[in-house]
Amino acid sequence: MFKKRITDKIEKLKSENLFREIKVFEGSRGGRAKLAGREYLVFCSNDYLGLSQHPELKNAMRGAVERFGAGACASRLVSGSTSAHSILEEKLKNFMQAEAVLLFNSGYAANIGIIPAITGKGDILLCDKLNHASLVDGCLLSKAEFRRYRHLDMEALEKLLVKYRFARERWIITDGLFSMDGDIAPLPDICGLAKKYDARIYLDDAHAFGVLGANGRGTPELFENEGKIDVLVGTLGKAAGVSGAFACGSAELYSYLINHARSFIYSTAIPPAIAMGAVTAVDILGSFTKERERFLEIVKDFNSKMAELNIASGSKSYIIPIVTGNAGTALELENSFWSEAVYVQAIRPPTVPEGSSRLRLTLTLSQQEDDRKKVLAILASSTAIL
Ligand SMILES: *Cc1c(COP(=O)(O)O)cnc(C)c1O
Repeated sequence: MFKKRITDKIEKLKSENLFREIKVFEGSRGGRAKLAGREYLVFCSNDYLGLSQHPELKNAMRGAVERFGAGACASRLVSGSTSAHSILEEKLKNFMQAEAVLLFNSGYAANIGIIPAITGKGDILLCDKLNHASLVDGCLLSKAEFRRYRHLDMEALEKLLVKYRFARERWIITDGLFSMDGDIAPLPDICGLAKKYDARIYLDDAHAFGVLGANGRGTPELFENEGKIDVLVGTLGKAAGVSGAFACGSAELYSYLINHARSFIYSTAIPPAIAMGAVTAVDILGSFTKERERFLEIVKDFNSKMAELNIASGSKSYIIPIVTGNAGTALELENSFWSEAVYVQAIRPPTVPEGSSRLRLTLTLSQQEDDRKKVLAILASSTAIL
């Protein structure tokens, strides 16, 4: 029964071009990775500034393994909390200019742990329709009511704020830089609405942390809206090049989450070596002003070259969707890149809404000028598919 049920589902996914498989890389270095013996250029990594390959970061992790061992071996509240974890929290607190910072094992764990912990019966959660799946799951775990507004539509958000003005608390929950579309939440408008309707803001800045804002503090720094965000989540697995995540908020929030966020309480802490790697990553991010500028110049240039090819991505960032609509077409486009040894990913439902399948390119500082030229050439010769 079970075996037939899941086999049927797998067959159905395959027939709809929605089946996914894991691809195994045999090593990775500077924007290149080996797959089945062949070297590919990688254009779908979130290692935007190339930190995962940084020698200082690797050294810090090696040293920390010697000092702390391999794993944390318990939850932070049992015996898994080491000085490495505290140093990282302190480092992030200073970097983000936050009152307090709490580590989580991943961005996913942060969102599914924090949202149900801080919201409940009588509250309303107002979410952008294209929010990351981990935010959606966090909202579904909460006892609060959950409504979604059209992507970036501030009028729709305001209508909901009016409608739910008698809720116990109103929470606006949004990605900073949207992970599949590469566009940015209008934070100044959101902050204005939050003030007008006495709402709290939960911002997931996973893709912006480390890259956007002159100092890498993400979308609030970019828009000069720092200090207006009640809960800000960042991940250490993307631009920081390591793994783990963190939440910025008040000192009270820190103490509250330690006692209420189930994904924090009931899960083994990240290995201390990962934490020490992240400490070095945050140090590097702090000194990366020039690299950020150079990267965003590259991004701007690439996006304008895409526009010259008449390929509308709508992106102004390093996340560049090429929407095909149809899942089969997205796979066809993916294949034309793979045959040229460029690794990219077709993104299909349920990651994106029905009918909005796409190829998603990401730019990183590890890629070379010639690599980007190659990608643009493949795109130029793919206009028949598009
Ligand atoms: C990647 C991502 C996450 C998950 O973070 P991990 O640390 O990879 O678990 C959460 N939210 C958003 C918006 C993301 O893009």
